[in-house]
Amino acid sequence: HAKGKGTGGAALFEARMLEEQEDRRKLESDLRLAVQHSQFDVFFQPLVDMKTREIVSFEALLRWPHETRGMISPELFIPLAEETGLINQLGAWALRRACEEAANWPEHIGIAVNLSPLQFKSSSLLPTLVNTLATTGLSPKRLELEVTESALLGAEATNVTILKSIRELGVRVSMDDFGTGYSSLAYLQNFEFDKIKIDKRFIQSLESGASNAAIVDAIIKLGIQIGIKTTAEGIETESQYDSVVLRGCSEGQGYLFSRPLTAEDARAAISSKLPIE
Ligand code: C2E
Ligand code: MG
Ligand code: MG
Ligand code: MG
Repeated sequence: HAKGKGTGGAALFEARMLEEQEDRRKLESDLRLAVQHSQFDVFFQPLVDMKTREIVSFEALLRWPHETRGMISPELFIPLAEETGLINQLGAWALRRACEEAANWPEHIGIAVNLSPLQFKSSSLLPTLVNTLATTGLSPKRLELEVTESALLGAEATNVTILKSIRELGVRVSMDDFGTGYSSLAYLQNFEFDKIKIDKRFIQSLESGASNAAIVDAIIKLGIQIGIKTTAEGIETESQYDSVVLRGCSEGQGYLFSRPLTAEDARAAISSKLPIE
């Protein structure tokens, strides 16, 4: 053990690096096993009609209940799944689980599923979609896929074709986390999206400066003018709600209405049929 002045810091640093690498390798192999054995949960967060606050659809959100680390956030394991090539298998599982569940809901309630940019670009996407819809019996018009702007980086002609073939199945596509990526406006012009989801950072900073409100305002107006629905993500307070309703936003999602729910709680929320308050 190097404890002397000078080298001690470096040795400690090295030890910590090794520990972190070890930690990461362990997490990777746990993830691989979890994917193999489908040890994930899908939670469902309501999207509500802005005016009536009634549930119009749910967003499927992956959770990883880990034996020793507790619930691991998708913000951590999705990037890991992307780096290790596990995302296609994991994403296909989440899609199936979400569609399976939604197939038992009333017809008027939709399901939104997140797609990683790697899934969007994968040649297995369309066959997976077709197969999942066929085997779960979910009508394609009830399914919505959420992609971020980063899915659209790169070969534009290819991306246009992919988007087109998804929409030809009757499945809708939303642009997620709008405003946080690159060239958002050009993407809206060149790609046919059905919906824009305004990123929660804009909603949550609505009251902290006139420019944030102006950005939200501009996105909603843009949506109205080009005939695309807008969803405000991350609504936590009545005043955030009031401010997006006033601006003409079509749908809302956030802790004010509901946190992501277990499948069972989602079913209960649907059958209670009450507007969420
Ligand atoms: P996202 O698609 O933008 O999903 C919205 C995130 O905002 C969710 O975080 C949701 O729980 C959170 N959220 C909703 N309302 C509120 C609110 O009022 N306040 C706050 N603070 N947060 C709110 P979550 O579940 O941790 O998911 C994070 C991200 O992980 C998602 O962001 C999505 O990009 C990704 N993700 C989740 N499930 C999947 C999946 O099945 N496939 C892929 N590719 N990505 C997924
Ligand atoms: Mg999303
Ligand atoms: Mg989002
Ligand atoms: Mg996000």
